[in-house]
Amino acid sequence: MDDDLQEDIRRLADLIGEAERCVAMTGVRLGATEDTEAKAAGSAWGEAASLEVLLTEPARFWDNWLPRAVEASQREVTPAHVALARLQDAGIVAAVITQAVDHLHGKAGDGDLIEVHANVLSCRCTRCEDVYALAEVQALAAAADDGVPRCTREECGYPLRPTGTLWGEPLVEQAVIRAWDMAAWSDLFLVLDTQLRTDPMAMLPSVPLQRGTRVAIVGTTRTHYDRYAALVIPRPAPEVLVGVADILAPGA
Ligand SMILES: [Zn+2]
Repeated sequence: MDDDLQEDIRRLADLIGEAERCVAMTGVRLGATEDTEAKAAGSAWGEAASLEVLLTEPARFWDNWLPRAVEASQREVTPAHVALARLQDAGIVAAVITQAVDHLHGKAGDGDLIEVHANVLSCRCTRCEDVYALAEVQALAAAADDGVPRCTREECGYPLRPTGTLWGEPLVEQAVIRAWDMAAWSDLFLVLDTQLRTDPMAMLPSVPLQRGTRVAIVGTTRTHYDRYAALVIPRPAPEVLVGVADILAPGA
């Protein structure tokens, strides 16, 4: 490990070690800061995964959404997810707020997790709210003539929809409220691998900053909060997180 990396890890570990209420925020994919958010928002995928397309062209919606949801659901927990989970288990990180829909933070550990977009692991009926696991949704879509999965409950049969947020929809309200509460409650707010370009989550670090709470930012892309942060580490979050966990939660 190079000395500069070690120094960055030590500085962040010191900050986290001094905090009593460290809350972390991650982007759409931990370990991939690269333009994922911007691409998703501006791309054909973003457009096809919208509420409007679900309502007006459901076959096209499912044709686009399902394979991507399946891909996200099959991603594997990375050492970075494990490191963050170790810090949570050890009581060093109190909560994780994430924009990811792959539920990898939930798979890595059972700490307090706030998923502001929910996740892609399930769908629900648009009428009776019955919940279906993604694998069931796939089977229902494959069996349907038009590729649109529908509720199997007797006398229902309404189309399903993803449980999580679609483009053009507001985020999960309860999760956003909790995210704002936790950010205000924190005494160190840790921003990991997110470009902070998508509102309203792009606003979240301003909550601790306005209270004079320290913010630390780790990630390869610059953010508009860098100049206000107590510490900025312009490296991919995974190598830093693993190092910090080794210092603060050894053996965990
Ligand atoms: Zn139903």
